[in-house]
Amino acid sequence: MTDLTAEQVRKEVAVWVEEAWSPDLTVGEWWKRLAASGYAHPMLPEDCGGKGYPRDLAQAVNRELAAHHVVGPPAGLGLMLAAPTIAMHGDEEQKATFIPRILDGTDAWCQLFSEPAAGSDLAGLQTKAELDGDEYIISGQKVWTSGGQVADWGMLLARTDPDAPKHKGISYFAFNMHQPGVEVRPLREMTGRAMFNEVFIDEARVPVANLIGGLNNGWAVANTTLAVERASLGSGGGGALGTVLPGSVAKQLGKRVGDFIHIEDAVESAASVGSDTLSMLSRLAAERGLQDDPIVRQGLAEIYTLTQLNRWNVSRARAGQRSSGVEPNLAKLLGNITLRRTRDVANHIIGPEGTLWGPDALSGGAIQELTVFSPGPSIYGGSDQIQLNIVSERGLGLPKEPGDNKNMPFKDLPKNV
Ligand SMILES: Cc1cc2nc3c(=O)[nH]c(=O)nc-3n(C[C@H](O)[C@H](O)[C@H](O)COP(=O)(O)OP(=O)(O)OC[C@H]3O[C@@H](n4cnc5c(N)ncnc54)[C@H](O)[C@@H]3O)c2cc1C
Repeated sequence: MTDLTAEQVRKEVAVWVEEAWSPDLTVGEWWKRLAASGYAHPMLPEDCGGKGYPRDLAQAVNRELAAHHVVGPPAGLGLMLAAPTIAMHGDEEQKATFIPRILDGTDAWCQLFSEPAAGSDLAGLQTKAELDGDEYIISGQKVWTSGGQVADWGMLLARTDPDAPKHKGISYFAFNMHQPGVEVRPLREMTGRAMFNEVFIDEARVPVANLIGGLNNGWAVANTTLAVERASLGSGGGGALGTVLPGSVAKQLGKRVGDFIHIEDAVESAASVGSDTLSMLSRLAAERGLQDDPIVRQGLAEIYTLTQLNRWNVSRARAGQRSSGVEPNLAKLLGNITLRRTRDVANHIIGPEGTLWGPDALSGGAIQELTVFSPGPSIYGGSDQIQLNIVSERGLGLPKEPGDNKNMPFKDLPKNV
């Protein structure tokens, strides 16, 4: 572990940016430099292209990059989830094959976990993988696949042993999205966008070499992905919402990187609840003569308090002292509570203007965006109710909720579809 402080890290990044950044580079050239420096994902171990930093130092890197108004690392789930999962469970060849191409934005990834009858009950998934020589044949349906329409690869969970109990017969694959038998259909959200998709898989193929973490060990590997997801989402990091897209489908790698700066800045202020959001709300309250309104004042104080609590929760997890092991779950829950509270206070301040959304909308539509997006984080990465179940069982030691027979073969369990 490094002895550097956040202040020292920020200084190092500032010096590096001064040398490396030019708005006239292409996106692909800039990301290659970022990847080579270790700053694309500084939490990864050094032998996987990172710097082995803890989360607070990685956030210091991101803050310094943002302060220089340069484009950040590739957006999406490859950097946030696939790279750390492969770094932990992949063999040497898989690490060398997949991680560098994620860090420099060559490949975009999606997460092929949820299915129509397997969301909270993820281990009930029915997509199957059957061995055929040195390949697996995959068939099934995934849903809510964020970024599936621009993904080159998917983190795929599939059932490799229906005779085993449900958590024990699942495997985790690196799945090539560009092949016959894969159909991606967009689903439109109330934000107006179609960020997520249904993915239909009909006899697609995966080489045995792309099995991550060993046969029938997919539940353990998936839990790494989910833990990283919870910790990243709860601490407001992860980049899944960034705007500059990696991969071969989005076709942004060859464009001039300087042309993306204003978009990154706008998203930074719209998607994160932190000091910037609080300053924006305080300014709006003052402009509307609401700075003495007790409801607004209490709301802003509450948002500030929740944000600080979450920061300390993350620091406590890092220190590892008196750790309950459920800090990532608490971080995600607290992050969601803060987001909803921010939405409510913001709409109290702007009143009916909250219903107007378009190019001329107040603050670029940041509050309207926050409002329609706010239910999402309480569902993805495991719903709030599931986080509470985990906290009560693993953190507080309460009895497990009744569930399926843990020893019964998956094929014999009752199913909805
Ligand atoms: C914006 C967004 C993006 C997403 N992106 C992805 C993605 O990229 N890849 C992917 O694989 N999935 C993705 N998901 C899917 C997400 O992980 C699931 O929606 C989530 O796990 C819930 O599953 P479900 O929708 O099937 O709801 P269900 O599991 O059917 O749950 C319905 C309701 O019942 C509650 N519930 C269920 N079981 C319990 C229980 N045991 N105790 C208490 N309450 C319970 C839930 O909390 C929820 O309120 C995304 C979802 C959203 C909203």
